[in-house]
Amino acid sequence: MKPANKIWLNGRIAPLARAGFLNFHQGLNYGACVYDGIRFYKTTNGAAIFRLKEHLDRFFYSASVLNMNIEKTKKELEEAIKNVIKINKLASGYIRPMAFYSEPKMGINIIGAKLTVVIFAWPWKYDAKEKSVRIKIVKTRRIDPSTADLKAKISGYYSNGLLGFIEARKSGFDEPLFLDTSGFVAEGAVNNIFIAKNGILYTPKIGNILGGITRNTIIRIARDMGIKVCEKNILPGFLRKADEIFLTGTGIELERVTKIHKYFSQRQIPQSIFTDLQNQYKKITGGNIKKYKNWLTPIQ
Ligand code: PMP
Repeated sequence: MKPANKIWLNGRIAPLARAGFLNFHQGLNYGACVYDGIRFYKTTNGAAIFRLKEHLDRFFYSASVLNMNIEKTKKELEEAIKNVIKINKLASGYIRPMAFYSEPKMGINIIGAKLTVVIFAWPWKYDAKEKSVRIKIVKTRRIDPSTADLKAKISGYYSNGLLGFIEARKSGFDEPLFLDTSGFVAEGAVNNIFIAKNGILYTPKIGNILGGITRNTIIRIARDMGIKVCEKNILPGFLRKADEIFLTGTGIELERVTKIHKYFSQRQIPQSIFTDLQNQYKKITGGNIKKYKNWLTPIQ
């Protein structure tokens, strides 16, 4: 899907065509690029960005891990994001800030290399139909925390996600589920996993995964709804005992898993934690629950 026509590029609004970064650079060659994904929603008080502070904190953290100097404050990027949404006249959608080393040169020395910072926007309407996926535990293991800082969203890491994705698709599944190098359940290529069993919600603990912002939202709203949440090391065998399994991520929000090869098939259940959480998430992102309004940054 093509982004909206106007982007923010190194400090000013520019036509999308200016984003034709097809020249040779270190961002492309070495994955020397960081990014984040942010949603904004149509709320009772107009368009508002969901958990912007947490996304900007993560974006700046990712940049610092790759020794990047964004040269803008978080406040300036917040204004830039709002500006891109306004100038494209978008009511709801998705925002992707990216920073990458754009020096058109060979060699891995990125110290002091030119940096490009760009913000893309997509119109994205709320999709009412419940989405679901079939996933496969892939042979490719999640990159080990001793080999990379998994708290950062660095494009280069996604070669690991892509290998898992290809493996899953070649076996006829929609998405991969990765185990970590110790054999514990980790995460999907671009999402986190939750397992509901006997009214309790389980999710892999932070350490071997990207601690997603949606994961954090779900843990907080589940606990506020009186649902016990347990963050722990999970072996794949545990998936066989699940009542429900779902993935979370900024883009997909909550997505039901209907099948994990050999491990899990969704059966009829009397009460769905997934549906309750999904409904609550919709209400919160729509600005309908006062308690969580501080998670929404109005665009005006
Ligand atoms: N894990 C990985 C590897 C991801 O790329 C993402 C997407 N950012 C997630 C989990 C989910 O994170 P979030 O909820 O912050 O989008």
